[in-house]
Amino acid sequence: VTRYRSVVLDVDSTLAGIEGIDWLAARRGPTVAAESLALTSRAMAGEISIESVYGLRMEAVRPTAAELAALGEAYREAAAPGARECITSLRAAGVEVHAVSGGIRQSILPFAAWLGLDEARVHAVSVFTDPQGAYTGWETTSPLATSAGKPAVVRALALPTPLLAVGDGATDLAIRGAGATFAAFTGFVTRGPVVAQADLVIESFPQLTALVLP
Ligand SMILES: [Mg+2]
Repeated sequence: VTRYRSVVLDVDSTLAGIEGIDWLAARRGPTVAAESLALTSRAMAGEISIESVYGLRMEAVRPTAAELAALGEAYREAAAPGARECITSLRAAGVEVHAVSGGIRQSILPFAAWLGLDEARVHAVSVFTDPQGAYTGWETTSPLATSAGKPAVVRALALPTPLLAVGDGATDLAIRGAGATFAAFTGFVTRGPVVAQADLVIESFPQLTALVLP
């Protein structure tokens, strides 16, 4: 018997030590990069809403298909130590593991596959490109581009309980609204307001494995 039957994982600054949109913005010069960083940081701390910054960041960056693929590689290079082993152990024990992210689906999919999570277990925001690879837009209807998106997506998945949500940000903390226990992940960044309201605090994936598996 495992302590939790389902685990929902954040991606940016949790499964990997980068923020995907900031990584992309860094390729657009210092001004765009600094703006994106500031918006991400304020949104993750819960100071401003995700919906107010999501489109602004995406339209400032307008990532190409090649850049989205490169971000997939960057995620893997920045993978949290032990994350892949943790997911393998949890799944072997019968735990349902899903990645629920406000990041870009095309970039997360190859990283998630490497971690052992198939497409059906990856929930993120799509970006659209034309056949030449130029940016044409993003999935503006995705709930995951909003503050309330993660609990809505998790509720709709109707995962086996008890359910544990793990992440660094305010949008992860909100998954408590879907009945989850929330563990703040501080392996990369520590966001005070999120940690203050968390049920648990963990700083590594080996620690997560020990928490879920008896
Ligand atoms: Mg995060």
